[in-house]
Amino acid sequence: MKKLKHITVICKELYEAEGASAVYDFVRNYLKRQPNSDIDYKDCTPCEANTPQLNGVCLICGTPSDGAILIPVPSIGDKLDTMGQLRDVTSHLQDNDQICIETIDLDTGDVQDLYPMYVDVIDGIELTNGETVSEIRFCQMPNSEPDDRDVQPIVDAVIEQLKDDMSKGDYTVLDELLKFIPRQLLINSLPEEDWQNFTAEAMRETLINKVFQKYYSDDEPKYDGKNRAYLDTLSNDELEMKL
Ligand SMILES: [Zn+2]
Repeated sequence: MKKLKHITVICKELYEAEGASAVYDFVRNYLKRQPNSDIDYKDCTPCEANTPQLNGVCLICGTPSDGAILIPVPSIGDKLDTMGQLRDVTSHLQDNDQICIETIDLDTGDVQDLYPMYVDVIDGIELTNGETVSEIRFCQMPNSEPDDRDVQPIVDAVIEQLKDDMSKGDYTVLDELLKFIPRQLLINSLPEEDWQNFTAEAMRETLINKVFQKYYSDDEPKYDGKNRAYLDTLSNDELEMKL
């Protein structure tokens, strides 16, 4: 990823390398591209000059002017919570620069780029401190045209193939397909009296019974209190591993 620099960092480096005039030149060009930027010219006491300032902080010497509100300036890569921080960190970007949201699955490290996206704004959110704010949401959009070709002919062909497989006792394809169905939808496809067998508690009980069958009994699970108490301490994954 290309590391972008915040304007305050760019100005500081320019000043150190080439002096104040380089900062004035940079800011003049910058304001041509970004006329709506928060940069103003104000008098700076240490510089003894009228200098470009961002939120009241001199871009040449870094000194806040009288009455400047010092808000921590985020850098690229920092956590952002507010619109102000987002504006700040993107202030050097141009109008035709692209927006892309990168999501990372923290378990697998898989990265997905959400581009393009749309924006939603929710007004009237009350914070616990009594303040009312709005919230901007960056929302996912498909990045290609939806494929709306009719899927029915394919479904029909698969049903024919499944009938053939199942008449030979082969359930492999059906088994794979069903695993893509959300859990609740699968459960709801069963008769209602069976639903209770697939709650989290009921499924754990079934797992414990299976382990009992395997280790502590030939046929019927023997509910020895000590064994039961031990199995209750195990996670579902640990129970699975015993089977
Ligand atoms: Zn200054």
